[in-house]
Amino acid sequence: MQSKRPVVLITGGSRGIGASVAQLAASRGYDVAITYRSEREAAEAVLAVCRASGAQAVACQGDVAVEADVLRMFDEAEAGLGPLSHVVNNAGITGRSGRLEDTPAEVLRSCVDINVTGALFVAREAVRRLSTRRGGQGGSIVNVSSVAAKLGSPGEYVWYAASKGAIDSLTIGLSREVALDGIRVNAVSPGMTRTDIHERSTQDLGRLERLKPFIPMQRIGEPEEIAEAVLFLMSDAASYITGADLPVSGGR
Ligand code: NAP
Repeated sequence: MQSKRPVVLITGGSRGIGASVAQLAASRGYDVAITYRSEREAAEAVLAVCRASGAQAVACQGDVAVEADVLRMFDEAEAGLGPLSHVVNNAGITGRSGRLEDTPAEVLRSCVDINVTGALFVAREAVRRLSTRRGGQGGSIVNVSSVAAKLGSPGEYVWYAASKGAIDSLTIGLSREVALDGIRVNAVSPGMTRTDIHERSTQDLGRLERLKPFIPMQRIGEPEEIAEAVLFLMSDAASYITGADLPVSGGR
């Protein structure tokens, strides 16, 4: 089935920020491919919302840290919806929270594998598919970074902050590398956003409420507010914007 609407692939689109991006994109006229790692039911629920908006929507299972999975998920998305025009590099984890000196190697490694190596696999595959230099139709990539890249997250997860610093470097470097290939590359940097990542990853119940006073706007962001920024950067309204990093963080 080939699609005439713009087609966006969103990694980690089954929950949280990625799910909001998928649903907003569907409501704004995009067809949507979401990827997920383990929760098929959550992915199906997002597909149902997207389809109710009139979008074609498919879900692809795989781990972004596994190169073969990434290639297969892009193939499945394009087989279902036609050529991609946008990719949102969103899947990510924090790992448990604590001081670096107390953190086991597997926590550090899985965070870097998923957040950095996975994001590089996804960005590389996006360029291969979108680049006008390679016969693609051009488009844009939005990387989901974090304000943690600049704040450093001391005592919580400096490894996660470091992994998002890598995303910021990826955004600036790749944006310049593919500027003449019809691809814009930008990032959004969410602040504290109401998703499951906090309690599930860190087992830190109540983290959001505890940290709220440190946010200048004194409230937690909603995933829909991050999605709006992603959709703006994907849109033609952002046609001269590449290499940008847009904080969506209530001033943090
Ligand atoms: P979330 O609610 O935990 O959702 C994470 C999503 O990523 C899920 O769809 C999950 O799929 C998927 N995923 C996780 N590991 C994966 C892997 N190895 N391969 C493929 N998919 C994987 O997280 P979120 O809060 O929406 O975060 C989304 C992005 O925003 C992340 O990059 C995060 O670092 C960033 N961010 C979040 C916040 C915040 O406060 N929430 C702040 C700044 C930045 P399954 O459920 O199937 O595993």
